[in-house]
Amino acid sequence: MRLVLLGPPGAGKGTQASIIAQRYEVSHISTGDMLREQVKKKTKLGQEAASFMNAGQLVPDKVILDMVRNRLKRKDSEKGFLFDGFPRTVPQAESLNAMLEKAGKPLDAVILLDVKDDFLVNRLTLRRNCPECGSIYHMESKPGRVPGYCDNDGAALVQREDDNEKVVRQRLQVYHEQTAPLVDFYRKTGQLSEVDASQEVARISLTVDRLLEKKAKK
Ligand code: AMP
Repeated sequence: MRLVLLGPPGAGKGTQASIIAQRYEVSHISTGDMLREQVKKKTKLGQEAASFMNAGQLVPDKVILDMVRNRLKRKDSEKGFLFDGFPRTVPQAESLNAMLEKAGKPLDAVILLDVKDDFLVNRLTLRRNCPECGSIYHMESKPGRVPGYCDNDGAALVQREDDNEKVVRQRLQVYHEQTAPLVDFYRKTGQLSEVDASQEVARISLTVDRLLEKKAKK
């Protein structure tokens, strides 16, 4: 199964991607996670990317496409993959199509997790992450058994640098300008399925699951 999860920041792409990747045994490829890893390691790429990320802007297409091309060469992507946060521009989507066509492995589905902006500002500014295992929390709806600490490994939760309100609003604007055109792009190819992502995690997951089962049967 080869999938793309599309949607604004905070729509729940990361959460749903982890669930789908486990259930269908495909590689979860998050360009945001890959970039944050580079930032943490203080590599040249990471230092370049951080200035874009902290300003709520997109990292240039070429940087992202080189990273994805290399990632797809890894053996674990042969069993299938799920892109989370990629593609984010029409040129990225076109390059991805070209890459996959060349390999004779087109996408099976693109799932749009759709939510209104007001909802997202709350979700993102109250979001917290485990620095050890990457699990995602929310200070009101999912604070952890001991609030502020990860249920899996006890690590103190942290807030992503780009989850403050000013940067969140900028990221949403960038989404509408540069990423939302992908909705039409994939609608035209007949690959798009839309899911209401303002519902709770389990319900979204169920809807996505039914959708993927239908696709698998085709
Ligand atoms: P995410 O974790 O997907 O919200 O990504 C965090 C930040 O990483 C974004 O706001 C961008 O600055 C950058 N980023 C992640 N994926 C991409 C992409 N496909 N294209 C451009 N920038 C990206």
